[in-house]
Amino acid sequence: MSNTHYDFIIIGTGAGGGTLAYRLAPIGKKILLLERGTFLPREKANWDTVEVVQKDRYHTTEAWQDHNGRTIHPGVSYYVGGNTKLYGGALFRWRERDFEQVIHKGGISPEWPLKYRDFEPYYTEAEQLYEVRGQRWLDPTEPAASKDYPHLPIRHEPRIQEIHQDLQAKGLHPFYLPLAIRLNEAERRMSACIRCNTCDGFPCLVDAKADADITCIRSTEPFANVTLVTEAKVVRLHTNPSGREVTTVETEVSGETQFFSGDIVVVACGAINSAALLLRSANDQHPHGLANRSHQVGRNLMKHQNGAIIGISKKQNPTIFQKTMGINDFYWGEAGFDYPMGHVQLLGKVNADMIAMESPAIAGISFQEKNAFTVMANHSIDWWLTAEDLPDPNNRVRLRNGTIQLEYTENNTEAYNRLLHRWIEVLKSIDCGDQILPCSFYFKKKLPLQGVAHQCGTCRFGEDPETSVLNLNCQTHDVNNLYVVDSSFFCSSAAVNPTLTIIANALRVGDHLAQRLA
Ligand SMILES: Cc1cc2nc3c(=O)[nH]c(=O)nc-3n(C[C@H](O)[C@H](O)[C@H](O)COP(=O)(O)OP(=O)(O)OC[C@H]3O[C@@H](n4cnc5c(N)ncnc54)[C@H](O)[C@@H]3O)c2cc1C
Ligand code: SF4
Repeated sequence: MSNTHYDFIIIGTGAGGGTLAYRLAPIGKKILLLERGTFLPREKANWDTVEVVQKDRYHTTEAWQDHNGRTIHPGVSYYVGGNTKLYGGALFRWRERDFEQVIHKGGISPEWPLKYRDFEPYYTEAEQLYEVRGQRWLDPTEPAASKDYPHLPIRHEPRIQEIHQDLQAKGLHPFYLPLAIRLNEAERRMSACIRCNTCDGFPCLVDAKADADITCIRSTEPFANVTLVTEAKVVRLHTNPSGREVTTVETEVSGETQFFSGDIVVVACGAINSAALLLRSANDQHPHGLANRSHQVGRNLMKHQNGAIIGISKKQNPTIFQKTMGINDFYWGEAGFDYPMGHVQLLGKVNADMIAMESPAIAGISFQEKNAFTVMANHSIDWWLTAEDLPDPNNRVRLRNGTIQLEYTENNTEAYNRLLHRWIEVLKSIDCGDQILPCSFYFKKKLPLQGVAHQCGTCRFGEDPETSVLNLNCQTHDVNNLYVVDSSFFCSSAAVNPTLTIIANALRVGDHLAQRLA
């Protein structure tokens, strides 16, 4: 057994854990980062569609189960930086109303115990830290902000600019997506980003995405008080006899079991793995799972209702970097539907290999078909639609013989269907929808359950220990030195991307933790 003792142990280095490490590093306390993955290798395959999308090169090979015990392969990645290594970098603030109770067609999105104003200073800091490019006040739903974006927006390429104008002519309000892509358009020679066509869903070969690895973990390297151990999978947390303190963190380091101890232990494994770790750490004092007196650990799993569609038009679309535009005109509903619908954004540009994956007869694709896919890809505009997924205690993470099992039934489907229907109508009205194809390549796997990129909500925060796992500082109600700092704390999921809220919260909790050990 190792007797190495730390002030902080942070388990996981994604948006939550990586940002927290960045925040705590300068205070000089002894910090141990335990990450089950390696650094993501820099290799030509980073930008190879066949390797990344068809062969799933950077997703875990781990097998989970659905509620019937059928095997699923989750579309998640275990690397330093977590899922931000492959993310699209669309970093949104949530709207003020996203923190309030909102009535949806499919149920209720609950009020948060903290409000937009509590997160606002941290959103501002998060945008600065992750170098977000954007332009304020084009999005009619955008919340108040105390500071402008740190960088100008990433401009549309000509075909997208044309669509931007067509949408405006229809009375809509397209806006530049807020992006954590380190592109310097004024001085391309000095730019980290080369503006390529393999970004959203791909790793960045030239390290130009502002992700949790590049932005946060690499910044902790000069700090002698920070130790990063990779290939270190935490398998169990042990407590003292009263069950009020975590005493040791049992970890498989390159296959060998090691034990670490820390004054404060932070779980930041992503919502599903964080819940699984707490459940796996059940003991006599915590028979239903660590910090699970409320029986809420693992419950209220949300993952957004996400869908991708390809609109084919007669015009060519030679766009290289396509993910530059968002539309929130239907976020809160539309005439005749007084319920939220959701958010629309452009996807990274789809290519022929991706469209080929949608073909049921991929193994026998002929030369003519391949040509047809190329023509389709050259004319397609590719969209990502998100509707809010509502918290449901029956949507949950469980363990079955030690394996992660997801019990999940979609809800709020009318909102998503309405958004999809409306968006197809809009595309047709601007000659962008001669043909509409649904596509699932983004998460590769065919079963929607496996697309857990936007997972959140399995250890929600709140003031009442009977109905929440974490208090407002993301400290577990039941175990004094245990925190969860990733997307687990969400009370609802809104309908814009989750990661800026995870980052902002990590900065907020970091301030609390720095004070606690001051
Ligand atoms: C293809 C794709 C595109 C996306 N695009 C966007 C986007 O444009 N905008 C946006 O806001 N979000 C996007 N997301 C979602 C975003 O990546 C996640 O919201 C975010 O990374 C979640 O942060 P987290 O800290 O909760 O978890 P993660 O980032 O998943 O980090 C968890 C970390 O914990 C580690 N870990 C897990 N279990 C253990 C263990 N037992 N022991 C040790 N380490 C462990 C993992 O390896 C990982 O490093 C995208 C995701 C994907 C997959
Ligand atoms: S567009 Fe820029 S940030 Fe994205 S993968 Fe290409 S070089 Fe990297």
